[in-house]
Amino acid sequence: MIHDLAEKLFIDGDWRRGEGERIPVENPATGEVLGHIAAATPAEIDAAVAAARKAFRIWSRLAPAERAKALRRLGDAITTEADAMARTMTQEQGKPLNEARGEILKLAEACHFYAEEAVRIHGEIVPNTTTDIDSLVVREPIGVVGAITPWNYPAELIGWKLCGALAAGCTIVIKPAELTPFTALAIARMAEKAKIPAGVVNVLTGPGAKVGQALVEHPGVDKIAFTGSSAVGLRIQQSCPTIKRLSLELGGNCPLIVTASADLDAAVKGAVRRSFRNMGQICIAINRIYVARPIAAEFVKRLCEAADKLVIANGIDKPDADVGAMASAEPLAKTKEHLADALAKGAKLVAGGGAPRGEAFARGHFFRPTVVSDCTHAMKVMTEETFGPLVGVMAFDGLDEAIELANDTPYGLASYVYAKDMDEIRYLSGRLDYGNVAVNNVDAGIMNAPYGGRKQSGVGYEHGREGMLEYLNFKHVRIRYDEPKGR
Ligand code: ADP
Repeated sequence: MIHDLAEKLFIDGDWRRGEGERIPVENPATGEVLGHIAAATPAEIDAAVAAARKAFRIWSRLAPAERAKALRRLGDAITTEADAMARTMTQEQGKPLNEARGEILKLAEACHFYAEEAVRIHGEIVPNTTTDIDSLVVREPIGVVGAITPWNYPAELIGWKLCGALAAGCTIVIKPAELTPFTALAIARMAEKAKIPAGVVNVLTGPGAKVGQALVEHPGVDKIAFTGSSAVGLRIQQSCPTIKRLSLELGGNCPLIVTASADLDAAVKGAVRRSFRNMGQICIAINRIYVARPIAAEFVKRLCEAADKLVIANGIDKPDADVGAMASAEPLAKTKEHLADALAKGAKLVAGGGAPRGEAFARGHFFRPTVVSDCTHAMKVMTEETFGPLVGVMAFDGLDEAIELANDTPYGLASYVYAKDMDEIRYLSGRLDYGNVAVNNVDAGIMNAPYGGRKQSGVGYEHGREGMLEYLNFKHVRIRYDEPKGR
């Protein structure tokens, strides 16, 4: 699949051989070059936006049921090709094959979910002060969407934007991360296979600072839907030269609170999954854990045992491994930096702490799931997003202290609680200043409920009905009627 997609751009339904600079894409588990992408040139960017504008005129006026059918076809095509697409993802991103396959199937689920939502774009009739007037509130698609996406979930993070936008009647130009372009191009291939009309879906590859920024600045793009770092999100907001709708899903620094009433086994299971899945490269990863003091030592012991048991492997060789390679040298370096900072400031290393040994790991970006205890908020592991397989633990004495520590961050994406006492659950969930609070589970995002951050974690929502509303404008049509003559 990668071989076919290398150096290609998908513009106006055509596979073009890109004219720009070639950029290598590596397999992070082996260091091998998988292929090259072409950085889209200004002319190619203009062509993609022009194609999306042209297609918008037709796509936005299609009956919603037709858009729903197209999305269903897209979901079906993706399901059929799930194995090949997963392989592409694992090769460029590093996550184990089974996990990549699961992500592809969730992309298909997004297509099917928004196929159903497409036919439910309802309006409202609003009462006026006199009875001769009707106020209709109708919803209309915004226009051309520029979707800029990161490498940690190369399919799903495109899918939520693509499916919400297409269901609403928008068209889209996708700029995937430089590390994971082939999954995005594979999605374009599925759009082609599903006979989505030319120009509705376009994919441009290349560096964010050039190609992504060009979409942000392009007068033909009506909305930017971005997932990535807070720094780049802020830059996008500040550098928009014209008014554009923005949705920004940015960094997190997500806490887990484990109270004395918690089911300890469940809490450990949840903590290990959400701290280390995808090597911690998740914006809703648990970065920091606050445990009630009486159970803290036992919790840490069990967490370390569970972390040590996780199987690390090249995700192609061992599809059911728990974790694979990290996506690149950069998040690995940050993980090491946060670990060194914590240890220098008095944290105890209680699990992991280095690369796994063996020839299989010699050339990839591997690191063992790592736990540090006795942490404080002087340490980066507790106050900055690590985006790697490292979690810090500290004990707390009262719920108010736990809440204060959990909210002591500029971020507000997701938070987690393990507790059995209903009063504690209510008290904590009401006071955690986060867009998502998961209690006694660690799956903060599900397809049919809104998912989004607050504070420096961003604006706007994905998933659910709300995820489609992000691609719609309201229009108020106010009509005054006369009594029919001669009635
Ligand atoms: P991450 O490293 O978590 O993927 P980034 O914010 O660096 O986060 O990248 C997310 C996406 O934003 C990528 O597709 C990247 O190419 C793109 N990007 C980076 N810089 C810019 C920029 N200045 N303008 C627009 N997009 C950008």
